[in-house]
Amino acid sequence: MEARPLTILGATGSIGTTTLNVVRAHPHHLRIAGLAAHARWRELLGPVHEFGVKTITLNDPKAAAEARASGEFPAGTRILEGNDGLIEIACLQEVATVVSAVVGTAGLAPTLAALAARKDVALASKELLVLAGKFVTEAARLSGARLLPVDSEHNAIHQLLRDKPRAEIERLVLTASGGAFRDTPIEQLKDVTLEQALRHPNWSMGPKVTIDSATMANKGLELIEARWLFDLPPDRIDIVIHPQSIIHSMITLTDGSMQALLSPPSMAYPIQDCLLYPQRLPCPAPRLDLAQALTLTMAPPAPARYPCLGLARQAATQGGTAPAIFNAANEIAVAAFIAGKIRFTGIAELVGQTLAACPSREPNSLADVLAADAEARVMASRLALKLSH
Ligand code: MG
Repeated sequence: MEARPLTILGATGSIGTTTLNVVRAHPHHLRIAGLAAHARWRELLGPVHEFGVKTITLNDPKAAAEARASGEFPAGTRILEGNDGLIEIACLQEVATVVSAVVGTAGLAPTLAALAARKDVALASKELLVLAGKFVTEAARLSGARLLPVDSEHNAIHQLLRDKPRAEIERLVLTASGGAFRDTPIEQLKDVTLEQALRHPNWSMGPKVTIDSATMANKGLELIEARWLFDLPPDRIDIVIHPQSIIHSMITLTDGSMQALLSPPSMAYPIQDCLLYPQRLPCPAPRLDLAQALTLTMAPPAPARYPCLGLARQAATQGGTAPAIFNAANEIAVAAFIAGKIRFTGIAELVGQTLAACPSREPNSLADVLAADAEARVMASRLALKLSH
């Protein structure tokens, strides 16, 4: 069997570097054809030499010029740049799978291009499905490309659904850690500090995602993701708090029995599943050690503690551009909280006010979605001033 050639969009981020670890563990099954980063070209030097990568791209043209002039890449390395470079590297003839892990909407065009070119896409960026789920799933359906979820919860469901007739699936259950304020008295939430919000119990992530985990806006985005990936209405997708992050998600079958997928909280597991699918090989990450006592608990999320979750469900049910408005308002709100301009509880207030102020429309094109996103950002920034304390 020939090694499956990959392109990694977002090669220097945490998904990108974990992907490199997985490839390192399976040199006969996987190889790297292309690497894309925003600007940090020096971080590509090691992987380019180690994996013999022939094509790289840097979104920032200045960084691309520096990389070319440095003389540090092997002779013959193609160094592309900008949005065109991202699209070209996502569609390289030899590539079978594209890992889409670019932060924000910059990954949208190359991911759609890869799907249209019938590349399998291992999707790590939530925004793409939240904003453009309709267009992303349509591109995959039209070309026959596979859309493989990297997000740990969705990957778990993807594994659980394999080989099951659709008629047997009743509900999906996404697990959530509950974040930093799972046990904080609700009346104290208005006074919590940024430092407290950044202490995540299980996963080490960037500040935006860690705060999204504390508000459970993150789980709201995942509800919207799941709705597109598995084509089920939001009212058949439940959310449960499972603080240990060992059960990555569950499914309920028509007879009422449930199945769960367990693994240690390491992204190497879902990434490897996407890259080797449908094959299973040993994963280069620790295993669960059942010689040690292990307690797994679950509890429903209290709506008063996690108002962002209810708002996300409302946006998911409404559809159209409402999920894009939710996402944009949440980004502005989290940035305002990080900047010390609004309270922690102001995040949900701002998201709710923005959703109420911006009408949702049925998007006919990506341009419609991006316009709704921009409009929601302006509205949320204006409303944030009023919430400033
Ligand atoms: Mg997740």
